[in-house]
Amino acid sequence: MKVLESIERFALTNRIAVECLDKCLSYKELKEYSDKISMYLLKEFGEDRTPIIIYGNKDNYILPVMMGALKSGRAYIPLDITFPENRVREIIEEVKPKVIFNFTNISLEEDSALEVKGDQIEDILNIYFSELASKETWVKDEDNCYILFTSGSTGKPKGVQITKRNIDTFVIWFEEFLEFDDSEEKVLNQVSYSFDVSVIPIFIGLGNGKTLFSLNKDTLEDLKSLFTQLASSNINHWVSTPALAEICVTFDDFNSMRISGLSKFVFAGEVLTKKLVKELMNKFPNVKIINGYGPTEATVLISAIEIDNNMIESEKGIPIGYPIDSCELGIIDESGNRLKPKEKGELVVIGNSVSKGYLNNIEMTDKAFFKDKAGNQGYKTGDLAYYEDGIIYYCGRKDFQIKLNGFRIEIEDIENNLRKVTNIKNTVVFPVFNEEHKISHLTAFVVLNEDNELSNLKNSTLIKSELKKFIPSYMIPRNIKIVKEFPLNTNGKIDRKKLMEDLK
Ligand code: AMP
Repeated sequence: MKVLESIERFALTNRIAVECLDKCLSYKELKEYSDKISMYLLKEFGEDRTPIIIYGNKDNYILPVMMGALKSGRAYIPLDITFPENRVREIIEEVKPKVIFNFTNISLEEDSALEVKGDQIEDILNIYFSELASKETWVKDEDNCYILFTSGSTGKPKGVQITKRNIDTFVIWFEEFLEFDDSEEKVLNQVSYSFDVSVIPIFIGLGNGKTLFSLNKDTLEDLKSLFTQLASSNINHWVSTPALAEICVTFDDFNSMRISGLSKFVFAGEVLTKKLVKELMNKFPNVKIINGYGPTEATVLISAIEIDNNMIESEKGIPIGYPIDSCELGIIDESGNRLKPKEKGELVVIGNSVSKGYLNNIEMTDKAFFKDKAGNQGYKTGDLAYYEDGIIYYCGRKDFQIKLNGFRIEIEDIENNLRKVTNIKNTVVFPVFNEEHKISHLTAFVVLNEDNELSNLKNSTLIKSELKKFIPSYMIPRNIKIVKEFPLNTNGKIDRKKLMEDLK
């Protein structure tokens, strides 16, 4: 596996693999520690290949544990510190791990699994010998490498299983797209490990000898510290959701003078707005901006594109790009028929980057995954999209399509048009249901570009009158609530669930 080979190679140099709050871990240490952890897993748990659970945030020992698991032929399941404790227990019950590496202060005390606390890692490193490690035990093509539990809007979290073949397929395509080589550079490691965008720094960053500049939860919650760290980071490649950059652009000092080595922004995970791109183009005139798209079920990203000025000027939304080389991305209608260019339908992906399915959940796997005639694995993304000139445009979630007073409306259509209103920075629109579970009206949460000190009512009237120019009146939200900023979830995406609670 490329990342494991790369760790072997750069262990012979002085390169730093990870830095977090002035603490560094070299490639040499990463190799030695991961070898020892792999020896520990093989010795203590023998032939058993049950995935291990890693509960924590950005501790520097987490990467050696992940790599140690892969070297011992096991998958790891990263659970971020922000996961509620009962969700963690629910996942433990589902996975039945033999060992949990716990880097939090919460004591899990599970009867069925051994708990290794963060400070006990040193004991493992003192007892086991890296010299005995062998590549024979490393994960093989169809073995799971990681399992990520998605938010589970249906109630029960679903564990997406990602194999070595899935990761290799993604890495080969995307590292070439990013034009990565093995020069000494730094990659931002901000996204929590339980969210698959973090696979970019881990597998492509470490896979090319880069240094991961890690931002932990405490830093991300303290804007001053976040900015101080970013300004002195010397990062070359930015990887995050658009939401983090939206916070950063509010700092005057967030520009190419302060973060001078930056060569590209890689965004993924949610809609990239034209407003953000314009601001970044102003502040970072020579820095590339890349929009990547993909569901966890098809391994991080399945399309990507560099954004240019023409795309910003165009009437269309920002494209999600050209498809990954080795997979087929098609658009289908409700009956599964392939649609022509410019026709909007559900985006499906077929090929080696598609997961084998959800852990222990045949029912949900059968609903979302399928095999094509040649027996290749496919996944229905639930996203609406269309092709034009070989480029894919995202049009929102299939499940955000609603009917209001008989009109078929796509919520994201309203959001995209609201973003055209002069003083709107970003927005999220929700349907509000009545007692009979029917949609009674729409509410929009809005963050303004500039605080104009007008009342909510006055702002809402101004917004509605400008919005009328773009969409029919039946699509205009009845309520508009101005908020200072949007709450973010563990993945750094706008926390829609939290906003929705405000509607109750
Ligand atoms: P996740 O599995 O958490 O990464 O979420 C995947 C979903 O996020 C996709 O199915 C899309 O709905 C959305 N998404 C991811 N990347 C983008 C993007 N660049 N633009 C718009 N939506 C995106």
